Amino acid sequence: MTHYLDVILPIPLQKAFTYHITEAEADFITTGIRVAVPFGKSKIYTALAYKVHNKAPTAYEPKTIHQILDEKPIVTEKQLKHWEWIAEYYMCSLGEVLRAAMPNAFILESETVLSKNEGIDIADTSLKDDEFLIYDALQYQSSLKIEDVISILDRKRVLPVINSLVEKGVLQLQEELYEKYQPKLVRYVKLREEYRSENQLQELLADLNRAPKQRDVIMTLFAIETALHKPIKVSELVERSGASTAIVKALIDKEVLDEYYIQTDRTQYEGKEALRLELSTEQKQALKAIEDCFLEKSVTLLHGVTSSGKTEIYVKLIEAQLALGKQTLYLLPEIALTTQLVQRLQAYFGEKVAVFHSRYSGNERVEVWRNLLEKADKAQIVIGARSALLLPFSNLGLIIVDEEHEQSYKQFDPAPRYHARDAAIVLANYHKAKTLLGSATPSLESYFNASEGKYGLVELNIRYNNVLLPDIELIDLADKYKRKRMKGHFSDRLIEEMQEALDDGFQIILFQNRRGFSPIVECLTCGTSPQCPNCDVSLTYHQYRDQLRCHYCGYNTVMIKNCQACGNATMDTKGFGTEQIESEAKVLFPDANVARMDLDTTRGKFGFERLISKFEQRDIDILVGTQMLTKGLDFRFVKLVGIMNADNLLNFPDFRAHERSYQLMSQVSGRAGRTDIRGKVLIQTYNPHHKILQQVSTNAYKEMYMEQLNERYNYRYPPIFRLIRITLKHKDYNRVNMASDWFAKSLRQVFKTHVLGPEFPPVSRIRNRFIKNILVKIPPGQSLGKTKEAIAKIDSSFNAVKDFRAVRVIINVDNY
Ligand code: ADP
Ligand code: ZN
Repeated sequence: MTHYLDVILPIPLQKAFTYHITEAEADFITTGIRVAVPFGKSKIYTALAYKVHNKAPTAYEPKTIHQILDEKPIVTEKQLKHWEWIAEYYMCSLGEVLRAAMPNAFILESETVLSKNEGIDIADTSLKDDEFLIYDALQYQSSLKIEDVISILDRKRVLPVINSLVEKGVLQLQEELYEKYQPKLVRYVKLREEYRSENQLQELLADLNRAPKQRDVIMTLFAIETALHKPIKVSELVERSGASTAIVKALIDKEVLDEYYIQTDRTQYEGKEALRLELSTEQKQALKAIEDCFLEKSVTLLHGVTSSGKTEIYVKLIEAQLALGKQTLYLLPEIALTTQLVQRLQAYFGEKVAVFHSRYSGNERVEVWRNLLEKADKAQIVIGARSALLLPFSNLGLIIVDEEHEQSYKQFDPAPRYHARDAAIVLANYHKAKTLLGSATPSLESYFNASEGKYGLVELNIRYNNVLLPDIELIDLADKYKRKRMKGHFSDRLIEEMQEALDDGFQIILFQNRRGFSPIVECLTCGTSPQCPNCDVSLTYHQYRDQLRCHYCGYNTVMIKNCQACGNATMDTKGFGTEQIESEAKVLFPDANVARMDLDTTRGKFGFERLISKFEQRDIDILVGTQMLTKGLDFRFVKLVGIMNADNLLNFPDFRAHERSYQLMSQVSGRAGRTDIRGKVLIQTYNPHHKILQQVSTNAYKEMYMEQLNERYNYRYPPIFRLIRITLKHKDYNRVNMASDWFAKSLRQVFKTHVLGPEFPPVSRIRNRFIKNILVKIPPGQSLGKTKEAIAKIDSSFNAVKDFRAVRVIINVDNY
């Protein structure tokens, strides 16, 4: 019988790819192991074995697989089932889910390798200089990579030389697969066997009398070996003996010491487990209520005000899972912003905590993956951002979705455009596990589901230790400007409160949701403002670098002194970002340490961590930042929070703007007064009577919820209606218009009035691509599956139109 294998390739194409396999391969291959397969002209790809079967594909002659890469599956059945759900629900290919799920290091890529043709004798003179260099190198090495050739010849364009060598029969080329995962090896040293006896050691030390530093190293090594009986790292030896690595190396060269390597995990926790805290009465009640909800419902929403001690409740729930021998997944909106939480959990659970970090290297991710697969003790608790959902869990008992309202749980680009909260609930169901959603400001969706009885609901209305929620004061900017009570962007009230907080030794957080110095630069003479050449936005002025930058495509240029339109040197800045607030704060409070936390200051693996720990250690008095500040940070000495301008949040053109403003402002406010003293929040605004601001200042979540829900009913938005957004992109303006008109018209034939658009979004061109959106609204009761089927059908007819083929169509289910 002939055997075939369907594989998943990490590419966006929808269809399955089938390869021919032998009987023996068919016996060996199981779903979830990796195979290397030829694809396209000459490339070799890593694919995941999906199904072995006997049905020959009809459309093409299947190729054979290149190689089997694993002995055992690296993807589990439940994991794959969950991936399939994601692909189906969010309308993308399984390959795209695979791509999002797999650490890069798992996806091997082929590389061209050059080797010498044996048995060929070449007269050196028949080779040109460049050719000879390569030929010569191959006398000493069995093979070369393209990279090596580039460095031998010291230039980028090396293909002509290689081709000519192939033609002359000197070289042959091969595609080879490389495993990118490199186990981390740690260097150890030990004393050579021959110096291990008392006598020989004495002799050695006598010999080394003239090299006292080397002598010290040997003595230290000997002392550690006898005292600790454990292998000694070079780094440890260097540290303990105070010698340099060069001295250790000298001893290795002298053959006194032997070096060797041991493989180790990159992520290791070396602390002691901390003492558990005793829950307060309210926390205990909440915990009990959650456990009761879980008896009947698989999802529970914990609505607990900021600093009510939700994390400690999570800790108890995790402990219970550990006792059952089950795994916990702790999801966070952005793992990079959660140093504090990771430290807290590691202090409790030590090595059992594995962090799946987007800024970790591929190798570190592979280690977490492998630990999970092997059900290692090290990965009982996984903390991670949304992609941690795609890991190979085997025995999941609980998923915690912390700060469940955060929009960054929804992936925008590229596909899969999944919502981690929703996908978490599905994953939990596959494992018969529970999901706990936690937030001080739940999303309308989750609170709605809880109100409808779909989820359990537990409320925790007081802060831990009965600390009062901060006192929130609204400042009327129009009035302050009129009465000249402003210094730059700071009202007199804000300055007063800041001075007081600083005098009392407290810290301050200032929130402004735009980075840079000012978002618009404008000529006072003719009104022209510099625009990004690639996008439909004005450039933001960054004073620190004296640059104009585009926040959409990264374009930048030096700040212009003269207007490009009229030539006058009358450039002025309008609006303000974090940079400007930072520099004004420095002038207003010259004795305070002011720092800024935004995308520009937190680049690099530990950029964010450094700022946080400086703030924790009170090296910073005033921290100016963007939404980054809102994400669950727990600082003990912040007394005052200033929101510099609430209006651009409230006026954002989106149906969720009000909900989001409420969440954002409540969350930033929640950073104030987390211990003992009551915090103070000042919100500067031109609309002090805005109902959302009133609700924020009175902590009226439920009122906000009821009002917003009512609007969603009236205007037919989630959580009442579902949304699917279809985005079309192309570099030609007319083509986008035509294509989106066609698409919208076809949609209207099916969905009638429930289609909105096509419309240009506020930024209608990004990276030279014009963008148009169409919104499909799905009323309650209408089948989501059928709706998606209809859209997919229209999409494939669309792709059959020659003129439209180059237009990119992006379908976003449950668009946020
Ligand atoms: P939330 O996640 O609800 O904002 P946290 O869990 O961060 O709140 O708790 C707020 C603060 O109160 C933290 O500093 C935490 O250490 C402290 N805390 C919470 N629960 C307890 C407890 N049971 N005992 C002592 N301190 C607690
Ligand atoms: Zn741009």
